[in-house]
Amino acid sequence: MTLLFTPTTMSVPVLSTDQDFPVRRIYCVGRNYVDHIREMKEGDERDDPFFFQKPADALVPDHGHVPYPPRTTDLQFEGELVVAIGAEGVDIDVDHAPDLVLGYAAGIDLTRRDRRRDCRDRRIPWEAGKSFDASAPCGPITRRAEAGDITTATLRLSVGDRIRQHTPIALMIWNVAEIIAHLSTDYRLMPGDLVYTGTPAGVAAVTPGDTIRVDIDGLAPLSITITESRTP
Ligand code: MN
Repeated sequence: MTLLFTPTTMSVPVLSTDQDFPVRRIYCVGRNYVDHIREMKEGDERDDPFFFQKPADALVPDHGHVPYPPRTTDLQFEGELVVAIGAEGVDIDVDHAPDLVLGYAAGIDLTRRDRRRDCRDRRIPWEAGKSFDASAPCGPITRRAEAGDITTATLRLSVGDRIRQHTPIALMIWNVAEIIAHLSTDYRLMPGDLVYTGTPAGVAAVTPGDTIRVDIDGLAPLSITITESRTP
């Protein structure tokens, strides 16, 4: 039997190797920094983490271009630490969670904020706000051993020359090990999974022509440019 057509496999380069990380699933943590929960004025800061997914083909590579998405007037960035999963696991405890981490990357959870708010108000799923085409920019993966101590890193996101987010990773409500432990109670984690770990305060809208850059200490930076809307 042959396939009717060739499926698209998205992948992310792994630094200091000649190999790419083939992406299976993209998980995202909903709320994970107290200052962002407060700026959004929603949610309880002590709630368990919750997760949503983006399609794997929403990935955008470093130096990629993102056409301004349709049916929004409020496209916003969320700079995030991304965890690349390199081993299978289910019901992982916090102590063993680091064993699943292949490496880390800088990412952006692009959000149609107006659509997300509409989903919230109508109590319908978040997909329209979060899971659209080209909504998951992700920089190259730095392997865990080469990334240093990610818990002491700072995340900075700038739009052009202006710094918009600047927060220590340590201010996450749920740290990487705790996120993996929680997520693995709901899903069997597999090599190829990416986990976007939530954004701190400072999110804002972008427009065509803007270049967004995310720097996380110890990791390769991510830079993308928003371009005019897609052409039909
Ligand atoms: Mn996010």
